[in-house]
Amino acid sequence: MNDIKEQLRIFNEERDWDQFHSPENLAKSVAIEAGELLECFQWNNDFDQRAVSDEIADVMMYCIMLADKIDINLEQEILRKLEENKQKYPVEKCKGSSKKYNELD
Ligand SMILES: [Mg+2]
Repeated sequence: MNDIKEQLRIFNEERDWDQFHSPENLAKSVAIEAGELLECFQWNNDFDQRAVSDEIADVMMYCIMLADKIDINLEQEILRKLEENKQKYPVEKCKGSSKKYNELD
């Protein structure tokens, strides 16, 4: 993750693009790229693996850039959120169920 973060910093510094990367603009870019990801599946179930890979990479790069911008340690936060999700969705209550945590018995 740190290597990718560093490569993104260098890529943007070389182009002087950091000036455009406010947290708001980066958050909007995550949503825009997520829309492009959805577009890969629009109208049918067939999809272009390369196009999907491109859009997943775009979403992830903007997420990493946003986290970097506002000093979020992504690896740490993903692991923290996973632990939180384990508490919310105990295996014995949710296995095989798509119910939301507040609808579990
Ligand atoms: Mg894209």
